[in-house]
Amino acid sequence: MTPAERRVAREWKTIQAMIRIYCRNNHGGRGALCEECEELRLYAERRLEKCPFSDEKPTCVKCPVHCYEAGMRERVRQVMRYSGPRMLLRHPILAIRHLRDEKLPLSPKAQKVAERLKQQASGS
Ligand code: SF4
Ligand SMILES: [Zn+2]
Repeated sequence: MTPAERRVAREWKTIQAMIRIYCRNNHGGRGALCEECEELRLYAERRLEKCPFSDEKPTCVKCPVHCYEAGMRERVRQVMRYSGPRMLLRHPILAIRHLRDEKLPLSPKAQKVAERLKQQASGS
């Protein structure tokens, strides 16, 4: 596995762990996820599979594109807000590594996209 592949695998593990924590504490989901959370997990998986950045992928939180549709984006945000602090207790190593990944600078490809979007937004 390349370092980039390891980062993406780590992010995927982190998202799934966060959804599990959220579901267990808010929907009583033990073992299996409830339908709603499973839908969110599958959606995140599909987004990850279609991510245009491949091995230059930033963490989704720092992504300039944010490919999630608005409703799903809000749902994943809610999960992260709730589970983020709890991750340190339940999965400390994964949480610390993920926080470190989030601090990495954007890849050249992601930076280019971010600049292009900024230009488009300012109309130049
Ligand atoms: S939010 Fe960005 S980094 Fe995450 S899957 Fe979508 S395009 Fe890729
Ligand atoms: Zn749930």
